[in-house]
Amino acid sequence: MSDRPASPVHRAQADAMRWDGVDVLAYKRDGDAPYRDVTRQILFDDPSLACQLRYFEVAPGGHTTLERHEHAHAVMVALGRGECLVGDRVYAIAERDLVHIPPLTWHQFCAGADAPLGFLCMVNGVRDRPQLPSAEDLDTLSRDPAVARFIAR
Ligand code: MN
Repeated sequence: MSDRPASPVHRAQADAMRWDGVDVLAYKRDGDAPYRDVTRQILFDDPSLACQLRYFEVAPGGHTTLERHEHAHAVMVALGRGECLVGDRVYAIAERDLVHIPPLTWHQFCAGADAPLGFLCMVNGVRDRPQLPSAEDLDTLSRDPAVARFIAR
């Protein structure tokens, strides 16, 4: 099964952060990994570029999965605000901020309590599956109080 959209030259924005012909998808298959209130849209998926550009939107109070993998992410915040964990640090993020996730680095995005968090994410077209943290990984991450607070929210 492919959720690859057709690739017309131009797609008008149909509504705020919604585009003609781009389906609003579940973030992940249910049960694959823990997350809350996240949608996924694949904006560009051209094999000749060897990457995809996706748009994720996290509803207020929601969060993506805490994960790591060998592939990297290049992220630009497009809507709202929130926080992200990258490695061993928590960053406050807002519209137009850029976030680079290096390979094999724990990361998670969290919307504000009263604001959504929408972000563009560029990623390899062919990539490894995300790894989830073990209890030991969570203990290690939680040695930092700010990270512990972020993970426990
Ligand atoms: Mn990831």
